[in-house]
Amino acid sequence: MRLLDWPLPEKITHFTPSSYETFRKCALQGVLSRSPQYKEFIYLNPKTLIGSVCHRIIESLGRGNFDDVQEGKLAEEIDKQYDELCSDLFVKSKNSIYPTQYSSPQKWPGYYMRLARLKVITHKLYQARKSNRSVIRTSGQFIEKQIEVFGGKLKGRPDRVVFVSSNEILIEDYKSGVIFDDESRILISIKQQMLFYSAILHKAFPEKRLRFRIVPFKGQPYEEIVDIKQANALAEKVVELLNEVNSIITGIESSSRSFHDLANPEIQNCRICSFKFRCNRYFDHSFPESELVSIRGNFIDFEQNTITLSVTTTTINQIVKIRHLSEPKYVFLRTLIVGTFVIFTEVKRVVSQGNILLFEPTIRTIALYE
Ligand code: SF4
Repeated sequence: MRLLDWPLPEKITHFTPSSYETFRKCALQGVLSRSPQYKEFIYLNPKTLIGSVCHRIIESLGRGNFDDVQEGKLAEEIDKQYDELCSDLFVKSKNSIYPTQYSSPQKWPGYYMRLARLKVITHKLYQARKSNRSVIRTSGQFIEKQIEVFGGKLKGRPDRVVFVSSNEILIEDYKSGVIFDDESRILISIKQQMLFYSAILHKAFPEKRLRFRIVPFKGQPYEEIVDIKQANALAEKVVELLNEVNSIITGIESSSRSFHDLANPEIQNCRICSFKFRCNRYFDHSFPESELVSIRGNFIDFEQNTITLSVTTTTINQIVKIRHLSEPKYVFLRTLIVGTFVIFTEVKRVVSQGNILLFEPTIRTIALYE
């Protein structure tokens, strides 16, 4: 497969809590994840796929799409939608760049356990909606639509917004994964997301106090009174980052800057990034050795399903072999000419042969040439 060209540089119009989180960690990752061509390279494991299905169902329930379902039939309806959405993603994942290891979505780890938790949480949410006491309905604008403030630069839609009293608003969000870190503190990413929503709601209802509640699929909910100063400080940072990214994009358009100026290499992020193959900053960075690595170098030969490359980076300067490349997707390697620049993602290190570093492909390996 040939290395993709860079996408067309496009200004970012707004951030949501999740896009802000991505861009905050690495703006290059954020920009590439918006390009349809690059999206194909995002590796989605079953855990992520199930999480997105759960979130879609909760969001749908929050919009009132289950209001006409009888309470006794709710579990059955959740079963049906969960099965349909997972099956749909399963078909898509079968046709993706990364072949699936599973014969059906029901074989995904955690399939039934997450469904059981989803049923519990959706039942609670269903009852809360039916109680008719406090979901914001004043003008119908906040339950169905995204809330936009700061000239449209911040947008977001919490799972549920509640008027607790005439002067207090509760922001509720449902989480399918863990919500606390190792020291039992709420995860920073979740806190930031809640502050993001709070900044938006404060702008819309400046006279009201705000509180947020995180409802995990498993375990007790977590509640906190919002510190408005913190929320506003976050909103300022969001707008600042948006302007900074757009200024680099303007530079890319005029060729005075490069896409690499958006990169922010950090081990935690880069380890799971799907776009390493395009990122010079990743290859230039000296990360601690890990079992899975991405390699790029100049083609020397391809024999007995083993490619030999000459690799020169800040961390490696030697001959590398990658063996067991027998799958049809690697056939093109036979046709490469000496010196062609080749990139392999996520190969696994095995015992070296003398001075030669030896690797093998994994399910996440993609081979590209430039
Ligand atoms: S590899 Fe790291 S620096 Fe490069 S785009 Fe991905 S996260 Fe950003």
